Amino acid sequence: MFLQGPGLRVTDHIMYDIDLASAVAEIKRLKARIVALQVPEGLKKRAYQIAEDIENKAGAEVMLVAEPCFGACDVPSSLFELVDAVVNVGHSPIPALTFSKPVIFVPARANVPVMNQLKQTVGMLQEPVGVIATSQHLTQLDDVIEGLEGMGIKVKVGEGDSRISHVGEILGCNYTTATAIAKDVGSYLLIGSGTFHGLGVHLATGKKVVVLDPNLEEPREIEQAKDKILRQRHAAIERAERARSFGIIIGEKVGQRRLRRARELRKLLRWKRKDASLVLMDKFDPEKLRALGFDAYVSTACPRIAIDDVALYDKPLLTPHELEIVLGVRKWENYTFDQMTEDEF
Ligand code: SF4
Repeated sequence: MFLQGPGLRVTDHIMYDIDLASAVAEIKRLKARIVALQVPEGLKKRAYQIAEDIENKAGAEVMLVAEPCFGACDVPSSLFELVDAVVNVGHSPIPALTFSKPVIFVPARANVPVMNQLKQTVGMLQEPVGVIATSQHLTQLDDVIEGLEGMGIKVKVGEGDSRISHVGEILGCNYTTATAIAKDVGSYLLIGSGTFHGLGVHLATGKKVVVLDPNLEEPREIEQAKDKILRQRHAAIERAERARSFGIIIGEKVGQRRLRRARELRKLLRWKRKDASLVLMDKFDPEKLRALGFDAYVSTACPRIAIDDVALYDKPLLTPHELEIVLGVRKWENYTFDQMTEDEF
């Protein structure tokens, strides 16, 4: 582990630059006396050091939030009854969200070199290349753009909707920086880890996506990971076709409350003569769904839950697009991951 100030660098496997200086300045400006500190699970073990740093430099009392925090969408309003401000580490703000008290977003940027791997991506990409990055890799976005342009490759970067705060940034629930430039690019280069974001962009745009994961040795094409996930989704859709009753889950988290979308789905289900009820849920838990006893569920909360946690649920848990396929108003050939865009709230 490695710490340094005023920007704090914390690492186990990956080095993250966490610049607390602006958060400290903001806490002082607000004259906040009590602050809640939210950190992602991967940084939880180091949270006390971040808290200590804030306490020492800002002179505020810091309370660590033990509940998991999955994004800027996940700042519980109950915190505002206890504290003067919230510091949320590791996530970019969602500009469309407003809170009743100040929330200070502190990015945690992975500090891993990418240039060696970038050279390997060149033969895999079709120009112009749309460059996109997950929140923790936004620092490398600029390096990659500069590197590609230095090699004479045409590059495009897109602006997102009001749920996105940085050009080129994608969230697990929002690829609008990619879809905004889909017509103008031949392929995408995604700086990030895992399969979810890359597959989401590929399905949303139909374009090739190459993933540059700074923690791996080589870049990879997202096509290779596609089949397994699509097979799982197809199986969930087939099982839900036999369901009579559906629970439509509305996420209680502040940035996940898609009431309008949930009501549209209830109307659609009732029109197709299915039983349908709205269900409020904060933390997802298979036991809660088992207790409710619906034949199938559709989640309008974080789109990652249905896809990433598929193995945990014994009843089909669908995304809104998947429900539309079940009800025959969308074709499987037009399958895409669910997105939370500004017009759905
Ligand atoms: S809804 Fe899910 S993907 Fe979107 S910001 Fe929240 S946790 Fe991340």
